[in-house]
Amino acid sequence: MQVIQSSKLANVCYDIRGPVLDEAMRLEEQGHRILKLNTGNPAAFGFEAPPEILQDILRNLSSAHGYGDSKGLLSARRAVVMHYEDRGLHGLSVEDVYLGNGVSELIQLAMTALLDDGDEVLVPAPDYPLWTASVSLAGGTAVHYRCDEQSEWYPDLADIAAKITDRTRAIVVINPNNPTGAVYPRELLEGIVELARQHRLVIYADEIYDKILYDGVEHVPLATLAPDLFCVTFNGMSKSYRVAGFRSGWMVLSGDRQRARSYIEGLNVLASMRLCANMPAQHAVAAALGGRQSIRDLVLPGGRLRASRDAAYKLLNEIPGVSCVKPKGALYAFPRLDPQVYKIKDDAQMVLDLLRAERILIVQGTGFNWPDPDHFRLVTLPRPEDVTDAVTRIGDFLSGYVQP
Ligand code: PLP
Repeated sequence: MQVIQSSKLANVCYDIRGPVLDEAMRLEEQGHRILKLNTGNPAAFGFEAPPEILQDILRNLSSAHGYGDSKGLLSARRAVVMHYEDRGLHGLSVEDVYLGNGVSELIQLAMTALLDDGDEVLVPAPDYPLWTASVSLAGGTAVHYRCDEQSEWYPDLADIAAKITDRTRAIVVINPNNPTGAVYPRELLEGIVELARQHRLVIYADEIYDKILYDGVEHVPLATLAPDLFCVTFNGMSKSYRVAGFRSGWMVLSGDRQRARSYIEGLNVLASMRLCANMPAQHAVAAALGGRQSIRDLVLPGGRLRASRDAAYKLLNEIPGVSCVKPKGALYAFPRLDPQVYKIKDDAQMVLDLLRAERILIVQGTGFNWPDPDHFRLVTLPRPEDVTDAVTRIGDFLSGYVQP
């Protein structure tokens, strides 16, 4: 019998590691050095793991080789509860916390437990595409609400309201945002919560970049504004603690858990089906949350992440026909290519052409479910001098780029 792919994958797409990466790997095999600005992987750019995290993993390694609780190590879950208590999210217990193999696994679990075929989830455009992919894989339909580049990339409340139907089950908010770097103000978050309240939507808050903030902006945990609604907040160790390869994240249920009882039962079944999350990494969660937050040194003026963000923002805006809203958080810039200047019909082709010409790998805007081929994303993790070099070369490439 011929083995064919499941139809469940028909609308599942994750271009950050898509076909252009295959071409980059082919070029690497031929001996070319590729500057990979496609993934937010701090370790790949020389960021080291905080020593206290390594110490806790190493100290506990000899007793971390067995399966653990499906929801996660109790000490880690306690640390998560205390952390959110400090941030103003009250009334949590360890039963509300699930540890996972990165936020990625938990997103898929959360969508699988929620959706029936045809159910709709409001997802931002542009988005971190795992959200759209996970909704699709779970049989749902991602309905994209517009984030407005003219307004600091903030979600457009009117657009959200217009897209709510009787099939809408939930809304996803990514704050700080990947790919735009937007950090949403409290009033805007209150507006989103109000819509969720009116339409009884579940709120999914992906806050994995909550500590990567520039220019003194404040991050407001969305769930603290919605104590009466059922919220699921996601966070983890990949970004702020720079240990993406340890695959460690968590989700926290808050608000009206009573209304979500059967959903929570489903989550428990799914969590137990994958037995447990990677145990060694869980031993570092308490140290991460309770220890010195070394990410601060990197994002404050003089810090490396801040300097790289500044370099990317300045130089991108100096390229004729390119404009970039200043990222206020996270690890990315999402510049616009003026369609009057660059007549790009296929942005994946543009990214491929850049790769072949300059050996730089970025991701096309449509890979983030942005509807038009007029944006791209690059990570701002390299050293400022490498960001400068990369953006200069992107500018050189664009100056002569004509798409047939
Ligand atoms: N959510 C967002 C917004 C991300 O940008 C990423 C990774 O880039 C993830 C979730 C996945 O993170 P993890 O490494 O915890 O799976």
